[in-house]
Amino acid sequence: MRIKKLTERVKCITANNPGIMTGPGTNTYLIGKNNITVIDPGPASAEHVDDILVACDGRLKQILVTHTHMDHSPGAKLLNEVTSAPVMGMTSTYKKNQDQSFRPDKTLLDKDQIKETEYTITTVHTPGHASNHLCFFLEEDKLIFTGDHIMNGSTVVIIPPDGNMRDYLSSLKSIKKLDLQFIAPGHGALMENPNKAIDWIIEHRLSREAKVIEALSMLSKANLDDLVKIVYRDVNQNLYTIAKYSLEAHLIKLECEGIVQYEKTDNTYIWLD
Ligand SMILES: [Zn+2]
Repeated sequence: MRIKKLTERVKCITANNPGIMTGPGTNTYLIGKNNITVIDPGPASAEHVDDILVACDGRLKQILVTHTHMDHSPGAKLLNEVTSAPVMGMTSTYKKNQDQSFRPDKTLLDKDQIKETEYTITTVHTPGHASNHLCFFLEEDKLIFTGDHIMNGSTVVIIPPDGNMRDYLSSLKSIKKLDLQFIAPGHGALMENPNKAIDWIIEHRLSREAKVIEALSMLSKANLDDLVKIVYRDVNQNLYTIAKYSLEAHLIKLECEGIVQYEKTDNTYIWLD
């Protein structure tokens, strides 16, 4: 079992599902000593759920889920079946790439609080990576669990229409308002200097957006295949399929801002001068 103690209150077990989208694997977090809250029980892996059960040792109080992608939430159903601990999170209105088994006992909304004698967790609704994405702020440790909103070591993929670049950037700004000392991401190691990390992500996204603007204003009209080669020329071609999702997300943002127009008939984007 890969279990790590991060603070007095927080432990992390990384699931054995490493990959291009999951980095070293999905992080499952355990908060508290007597009444344990689990965040993101991970994929439907009996081995991983067993590890969580052993670490909780009968003290599991509730199961929180950041979002319902297949590497984050399916373990919730398995854990609930064994322990009856309530599952909390937000269901998705989208079907694609979603955990269809996810049935929260309690739907969490922005600013909802889970209060235990040892700690308080506040929900922050952070649409962007997914429309039902939640982050969880642990006040006592000034630590935020960011799921796939912020990962360590890789850029988050924004897949429209569930993913939304405008929402993503504004959710980052809302997190920055919190008094933070640590980011505990869904994938990768604990991050210090949260403000620096968030500023870097915003800057990185906006510099990519500037490349989209530059390319499309030059071409006047282009499709995703034309644009990806220019905008993501620094990225390995094997990643173009994924890059095109984020590219589309940028274009949708620019369309909302009235700079770009999408032409449905031939799947192109037009630069509006
Ligand atoms: Zn995800």
